[in-house]
Amino acid sequence: MNISEKARLLSGWIDEAECITCVCHARPDGDAVGSCAAMTSYLRQCRSKDALALFPDSAPASLDFVMGHADHVVADADLARAQARLGRTDLLICLDFNTMSRAEGLEQALRSCPGRKVLIDHHQSPALQDFDLSFSSVSVSSACELLYSVLMLMPDIQSDATRLPAAAAAALMTGMTTDTNNFANSVFPGTLRMASELLAAGVDREAIIDRLYFCERPNRLAAQGEMLSELMHILPCGAAVTVLRNDFYKRHALLDGETEGFVNMPLAVKDVRLSILAKEEEDGRFRVSLRSKAGVSARLLAAERFHGGGHEQASGGKIIIPADVQSADLVRHYVEDVAARFMQENYCNN
Ligand code: 5GP
Ligand code: MN
Repeated sequence: MNISEKARLLSGWIDEAECITCVCHARPDGDAVGSCAAMTSYLRQCRSKDALALFPDSAPASLDFVMGHADHVVADADLARAQARLGRTDLLICLDFNTMSRAEGLEQALRSCPGRKVLIDHHQSPALQDFDLSFSSVSVSSACELLYSVLMLMPDIQSDATRLPAAAAAALMTGMTTDTNNFANSVFPGTLRMASELLAAGVDREAIIDRLYFCERPNRLAAQGEMLSELMHILPCGAAVTVLRNDFYKRHALLDGETEGFVNMPLAVKDVRLSILAKEEEDGRFRVSLRSKAGVSARLLAAERFHGGGHEQASGGKIIIPADVQSADLVRHYVEDVAARFMQENYCNN
């Protein structure tokens, strides 16, 4: 089926559905929140549907503006409501993740949802067998961009972005902006087309940029300063390794999500081709974020050594203690060793 045929099928399923739930991956980022917000807004306003966004856990407060006052459920804060909702969902739209396991604690509840399951995602290797209909492409910037293409094919939109609800248009622009790191990565011709059409439709991009990039607390900048001057180690192999421990978060009184974007910074250095950021979590695990320049696969390293995956140039995973490393104090040594070997084995000619 081509995308137009799939969109026609989806539109029919929307007509038939009485309870539609839009869900994204755990620790939602701008693309996850943006795509859920855009889809629910479209379904409510243009199709008069009972549609609700469901997040496995909460998104950073800096993204509150994307959902605005629209009702939504955060499963780890209200599991009973999330389960009740999924129990009567007859159309489940999964956005910005390729396997149910990315919903973490919500995985089983999603699998047991009785409704039809639709995937709209831009990661490699989607678990197509888990979905009744899949829109999947890695040649787009974001789930928001793919969702935009799907929405443009809806019978009531007919490629006219001005017919989208204003909240949906703004949410799509937001998710595309964060996943491209404000047009720095993963920009395809379609990405700029979508941005241009949304801008022409009246999206206030300046307001979005202000909320995303010019509303920081001074704490974040101070933390960034310490990270760059003290905690980032650049290895001779071209990898930069940064480990953030709990005392760092306490010292700077950081809020959830305030280290977002830190992993990109080491790539500003000419010879750095891979940046790895390991963050200690309260449960003693470490979350790992990886970014790379073209030619180095962050995805491969995340999959091989950090129980994760993602995109070629942006991926994530975790370090489990003591399975991977005996103690938190040894994490830096472990990550530096893994990084050096990975670069040596795959990208050094000597
Ligand atoms: P971030 O570093 O922003 O948390 O994640 C970057 C990208 O890596 C995400 O967009 C997602 O594609 C991927 N990713 C992050 N965490 C995981 C994970 O635990 N498993 C997998 N498979 N991918 C992840
Ligand atoms: Mn995404």
